[in-house]
Amino acid sequence: MQIRYEPVLLDAVVSALIQEREATGDLHFTHEYHALTDAAYRLDLAAREEAFQQIHRRLFRRWNLAAPIEAAFTEFPELREHIQTLWVVRAPGARDEGADLQFPGRTAAILRLLPRRFLDPLSLTRLLRHELTHLSDVLDPTFAYEHTEGIPGIHLAEEPLVRDRYRLLWDITIDSRLIQAGRETVAAEAQRRAEFEAQYRGVPAPLLEKAFRRTWDMPRPSHPQLLEMATEPGRALFEAWEGTIRSLPGSRCPLCRFPSRSFRQGSGEIPLPLVELIQCDFPEWQPELGACERCVEGYTVCQGTR
Ligand SMILES: [Zn+2]
Ligand SMILES: [Zn+2]
Repeated sequence: MQIRYEPVLLDAVVSALIQEREATGDLHFTHEYHALTDAAYRLDLAAREEAFQQIHRRLFRRWNLAAPIEAAFTEFPELREHIQTLWVVRAPGARDEGADLQFPGRTAAILRLLPRRFLDPLSLTRLLRHELTHLSDVLDPTFAYEHTEGIPGIHLAEEPLVRDRYRLLWDITIDSRLIQAGRETVAAEAQRRAEFEAQYRGVPAPLLEKAFRRTWDMPRPSHPQLLEMATEPGRALFEAWEGTIRSLPGSRCPLCRFPSRSFRQGSGEIPLPLVELIQCDFPEWQPELGACERCVEGYTVCQGTR
């Protein structure tokens, strides 16, 4: 595996390190930097740019800033073997940090990091371990990962919600596997539980805790399993509560079959004329089964025209 660093990232990391040390009164890095760059300032503009890039690369190596990245891959020999080129680039913001395999072929990977991440090797190591587990899962044939533009059977408007849930469920199983193996990762159990509770707000607490436990304790899931848990929370995540969980945000609407964020349920929330209208199309349907906001709206419009 060849590691390629983006010049703007190296520039930012070297500057950040110098600044951090200067703030503590340590000018060692500043002097070392100027000893190399003073000569470069005498070059013409085009040559200067190239000279600076070389200096940043040299200092990055000399100051051992790449060590956590190289060390992380020794924990994932299968990735080091499979990936031919790893591009390490600057993440625009904290939410953009992470690793991805490039499709098709998956022999190139991209790692997006904030420059300041390199100033804290321990947090960098934890992040890499978590991110490389994502990549390792994707490359494992038994994980059965499938790269698709959209999520089959999911309405475009619901896609971000399903993606967030898929990502969180996967993250939970990654951190639990790492912690059980005695390896430090980005989030502890309590933090993942809080995120899970926030994602499924409204679900009764005992049910929530049971589902979290099951997810935390499960052996490595496959991609289809995670997708099912994200798209069908009532059945695949909260189990056995089919009837009462129907109105859970993200469950599939029994009428249009699309997952929805907001449901109406019961005759209190769906007026009788509307119930009768819906039953013309779905004779088996009862108001207790609920309907998504979109369907209720649709039938309300129909009501005026029939
Ligand atoms: Zn993750
Ligand atoms: Zn619907």
